[in-house]
Amino acid sequence: MVLLLPPAALSAPASCTVSRILCKAPIRSAAAFSFKRLRFSPFTPNFHARFRSTGVNGAAPELSSLGPEIIFLGTGTSEGIPRVSCLTNPLKACEVCLKATEPGNKNRRLNTSILVRYPSTSGIRNILVDAGKFFYHTALRWFPLFGLRTLDAVIITHSHADAIGGLDDLRDWTNNVQHHIPIYVAKRDFEVMKKTHYYLVDTSVVTPGAAVSELQFNIIEEVPFIVHDLKVTPLPVWHGQGYRSLGFRFGNVCYISDVSEIPEETYSLLKDCELLILDALRPDRSSSTHFGLPRALEEVRKIKPRQTLFTGMMHLMDHDRVNEDLKKLKISEGLDVQLSYDGLRVPVNL
Ligand SMILES: [Zn+2]
Ligand SMILES: [Zn+2]
Repeated sequence: MVLLLPPAALSAPASCTVSRILCKAPIRSAAAFSFKRLRFSPFTPNFHARFRSTGVNGAAPELSSLGPEIIFLGTGTSEGIPRVSCLTNPLKACEVCLKATEPGNKNRRLNTSILVRYPSTSGIRNILVDAGKFFYHTALRWFPLFGLRTLDAVIITHSHADAIGGLDDLRDWTNNVQHHIPIYVAKRDFEVMKKTHYYLVDTSVVTPGAAVSELQFNIIEEVPFIVHDLKVTPLPVWHGQGYRSLGFRFGNVCYISDVSEIPEETYSLLKDCELLILDALRPDRSSSTHFGLPRALEEVRKIKPRQTLFTGMMHLMDHDRVNEDLKKLKISEGLDVQLSYDGLRVPVNL
């Protein structure tokens, strides 16, 4: 079954929202991107966007209405799951990585990322949080399947490779789908991008005629800002000692993908959270840069969201087995906690 979306619900090309950013100065003005590199205009809305009925396991996914939703584009660690090293290890079989090689298996996880998709006055908006090393593979897997086409903005949590390594892949969008993509990034991470993606930050170094991603950088601070009519509240956290990462709150959805410590002042921003999406690297303990499941559950008990979906799981987290254990907490403590998986779509209130 194929559901066609009405044209009004389709995504329009991204427009400049620089003036809507609070407490920041745009690094590049919209005017800097006003020229047309292309002689033809491929930037038309996708009138073929559709939700298809084929799901992760080949079964029909729950089709969301045209209301807001979170799409989990990736839920795994930096190296991805399965790990290549597990599949080539002659001495030890890794059960989770082996399972992850099966098509549609929920242990198959790419870099942590979500898409916030919501209707606005100008159509459906797609706000991406992080474009990591595997972004091309992520998009290849989910964009055609879910009828996604435009990227109206990208919000960056931090500047590790599994969060920004895919910025170069955005060239396919800005060359063939839309003029540019606004990127929302903290100053410290923008400084990193100046080195890792210097040619995307300063396109004057690019050989004339060569096509690179047309990104429009907007510096964010640790205060709320607006992206295409959506209020986004940064949730500052520590991701290792002395290293800051940002979670983000959209409506009553709180997303914290990379965290080892939540500062006291951030808890007040997590009040009345309906859906918490939280880092949980491994089943037994935390690492120096990520919550493990026991610590993540402690935080859930403290934050008290209505529902929690964990993300950022490594290969020690077997999807079905861990979820079976987590289900027991619903009975014993009333905790609604589960692991997310790549391709999961959750209707939300924004
Ligand atoms: Zn493994
Ligand atoms: Zn990181």
